[in-house]
Amino acid sequence: MERKKFIQSLALLPLMSSSMKLDSLRRLSDTLPSTTRMPVLFLGHGSPMNAIEENEFVAGFRATGRSIDKPKAILCISAHWETKGTYVTAMDHPRTIHDFGGFPKELFAVQYPAPGSPELAKETKALITQTEVGLDDQWGLDHGAWSVIKHLYPDADVPVIQMSLDYTKPASYHYTLAKELSTLRRKGVLIVGSGNMVHNLRMVAWDKLNADPYAFDWATEANDKMKSWIRSGDHERLIDYRAQGKAFDLAIPTPEHYLPLIYTLALQEKNETASVFNDQPVGGSISMTSIKISAD
Ligand code: ZN
Repeated sequence: MERKKFIQSLALLPLMSSSMKLDSLRRLSDTLPSTTRMPVLFLGHGSPMNAIEENEFVAGFRATGRSIDKPKAILCISAHWETKGTYVTAMDHPRTIHDFGGFPKELFAVQYPAPGSPELAKETKALITQTEVGLDDQWGLDHGAWSVIKHLYPDADVPVIQMSLDYTKPASYHYTLAKELSTLRRKGVLIVGSGNMVHNLRMVAWDKLNADPYAFDWATEANDKMKSWIRSGDHERLIDYRAQGKAFDLAIPTPEHYLPLIYTLALQEKNETASVFNDQPVGGSISMTSIKISAD
């Protein structure tokens, strides 16, 4: 919070009841900048089964979780929440949404009871000037969020809110919108984009799904170019993904799994590097490649 606003808020305190004062002091201290800047993640979530399987991707998520100071809260932009306009979940207790079909019962039994954070939802709404952000009380945590966040914080003790993807807007819009979230990084908020850089479900080689890592040539080409531009900070070409040729057209047949990457990259600051982990293809047409943006 700006110093001026903070002082103005303090000036209002004598007018409030004592419980209101306490509440408002707590909120004010929550909104003061913390000293450390949280990293930003893009997590390739792949199959919902990653929520309950033991595999190298899960190990990668866990190791990443351990490499980060425990956040005060998480803001997740998931491929699986698309809306007209932008919303943030603002309920106290988001439900675990099983937004998939044809998977075993064990997966439907998974609950991830992380609390929400109405305060963070309101703060996020207040931060964003590009559009009017709606406060949502219907959604919850979809599998793009819980199937990966559960490996970062298995005790579900970090509050999580989700921000939706406005499906009517181009990547450039999402990139500038995401930049408005940057101050949250200094307030202990871990921002997580969850999708897949290469994601073409229609072309999955089902016979190779459980085999060694396998990628079609176009999937490798697109994933390699993406990594190269991520490492060199060439965000322009990544935003302009529709102009990058056939491999990109096949890798990104629809934008929802790719756009969370754009949010993550938009938050990269000077002197920060993008490191790659879980960099493996699955079933020919999906890449699990994940990114951590940090100063180390
Ligand atoms: Zn997905």
